[in-house]
Amino acid sequence: MTRGERRAALEQIASEVLDCTRCRLHEGRTRAVPGEGDPDTEVVFVGEGPGFNEDREGRPFIGRAGGLLGRLLGAIGWQREDVFITNVVKCRPPDNRDPQPDEIAACAPYLQRQLEALDPAVVVTLGRYSMGTFMPGARIGQVHGTSVPADPETGARAALVFAMYHPAAALRSPAIESESFEDMASIPSVLLRARERRVSAPAPALRSEPAPASDASLPPAADPTADDAPQLTLF
Ligand code: URA
Ligand code: SF4
Repeated sequence: MTRGERRAALEQIASEVLDCTRCRLHEGRTRAVPGEGDPDTEVVFVGEGPGFNEDREGRPFIGRAGGLLGRLLGAIGWQREDVFITNVVKCRPPDNRDPQPDEIAACAPYLQRQLEALDPAVVVTLGRYSMGTFMPGARIGQVHGTSVPADPETGARAALVFAMYHPAAALRSPAIESESFEDMASIPSVLLRARERRVSAPAPALRSEPAPASDASLPPAADPTADDAPQLTLF
């Protein structure tokens, strides 16, 4: 996908989300929250669902949990504009209750299409519900801070999935907060490994079209001055 095609695909998905009625969560929403960020990023963060502030503004992670997410990113020298941020459900569950399995299933095709368009190297799951989509059966206390190859069925066809606690959980527990900073600190090295996997194992069988001999869509890991250089700086 070219940059323009990726942008257009994300805009199309967002416009469908904005007036989606596929599950009951549309009934109580003020605004749906498709997600936002750099369409050319290598890293996608997936949270649970919009909260009070997100529902009012139509943007993900802009409340207190979002503030912490920004500080976590800042600790590795990244900004939220450098990555893409979205959620497993795009509409706020009433009173911030947990999203239900049928709601997650109804909304899943949007996340899948976003991941197909973004083709990230790393998907970072925030919290249990997001982890459940990418690491079914895993327990957050055991897998946070670790990565596994993404199942291509998720839409992320050549990515590592990295699990983190939800920032809201970190706001409630200083121990989880400090573990979250530790987990975030390993994301740059996960990204390096993910890039290497993409170069060494492009897995043409997972693509619907044959992989080109030299895959121009793979961001080079160097030359930050080039126009099509990766958006993320590694320190
Ligand atoms: N919590 C989430 O999981 N997502 C948001 O967008 C905001 C808070
Ligand atoms: Fe549609 Fe997802 Fe909102 Fe449900 S949560 S109404 S599936 S956009």
